[in-house]
Amino acid sequence: MSTEFVYEALPMRVVFRPGAATTAVAAEAERLGLRRVLVLSGSRGRDVAQAVADSLGDACVGVHPGAVMHVPVEVADEAVDVARKLDADGCVAVGGGSAIGLGKALALRAGLPLIAVPSTYAGSEMTPVWGLTENGVKRTGRDRAVLPRSVVYDPELTLSMPPALSGTSGMNAIAHAVEALYAPDASPVISLMAEEGVRSLAAALPVVADARSQALYGAWLCGACLGATTMGLHHKLCHVLGGTFNLPHADTHTVVLPYVLAFNSPAVPTTLAALRRALGTPDPALGLYDLAGRLGAPRSLAALGLPREGIERAVGLAAATPYANPREASPDDLRAILTAAYEGAPPATGL
Ligand code: NAD
Repeated sequence: MSTEFVYEALPMRVVFRPGAATTAVAAEAERLGLRRVLVLSGSRGRDVAQAVADSLGDACVGVHPGAVMHVPVEVADEAVDVARKLDADGCVAVGGGSAIGLGKALALRAGLPLIAVPSTYAGSEMTPVWGLTENGVKRTGRDRAVLPRSVVYDPELTLSMPPALSGTSGMNAIAHAVEALYAPDASPVISLMAEEGVRSLAAALPVVADARSQALYGAWLCGACLGATTMGLHHKLCHVLGGTFNLPHADTHTVVLPYVLAFNSPAVPTTLAALRRALGTPDPALGLYDLAGRLGAPRSLAALGLPREGIERAVGLAAATPYANPREASPDDLRAILTAAYEGAPPATGL
């Protein structure tokens, strides 16, 4: 354990219980003094969003099912318009990272307090990070104003996730914890959450139908790690691949993580020790690759639709902006990592 660190706790209020989406949100809104709440979702989540809206009764002024992946600015602008027309004083985002991302855009642009009701393991609800996509480039920033005032975790909402999404979304959460373990602002408290989050998810995901609460608990801890630390090379690459090539978020995380961890492995012995305990495997990068295989998840960027020529563009974009990483990655290293992820063979860690 490092004996020097800075740990800053983010304000975090969590209500965690089966059924909470329709039994806890109204009380959370009341606690925040909200009387004119707008409920946001994607088009798929409209029915659940309506059920949440019904549970709010008169405190709800409408449902806006307009969320899409990566929060295009036009989609954010439209939601701000809807909120202003309805004179909303707060919002509840119901769904995956895309719906919560739209809620964060409303918090950022219209100053509305946000209650998040996550239905995947993406973890956005635990972070002060917002993202907006304009002209094929995704911008992100940190602002405490977008951190949800309250997070309502309802394992029942995750029951409808198809097995493929459960697997990749869970791997997405594990990626947050892996990078938190070797982040420049890692701390013993966050490392505990990261190890427990990975352990909980790795145990729950292969039997997820019986272990939804355990998986969602792990996703919460991994999301909290993401909120507390600086993202590294893995998140940088996924951000570029998602923003520029519109690759699906959780699938991209699932494919890329073993290769970045394999690259970083020689530089992060303490992270490897934590991941060996959490995953019960001697080679964590290979262990994560195997876990993705057991989950039936895609394991190559080619399978996700990245054109081979895209590798060079992604190298350029990733090399152009700085990010924290425990091992410096040259453009040649980035090319090698992305080519390996494109091809999808088992990662070579040399462990
Ligand atoms: P998503 O919200 O786009 O959901 C993926 C798909 O699954 C969608 O089609 C959605 O309708 C569907 N879905 C969601 N929940 C479901 C459920 N319970 N049952 C069945 N289908 C369901 O994807 P995601 O992986 O949750 O989130 C990805 C987005 O979140 C990306 O834009 C990413 O950048 C962002 N994100 C941001 C942060 C942050 O800190 N700002 C953190 C993580 C993710």
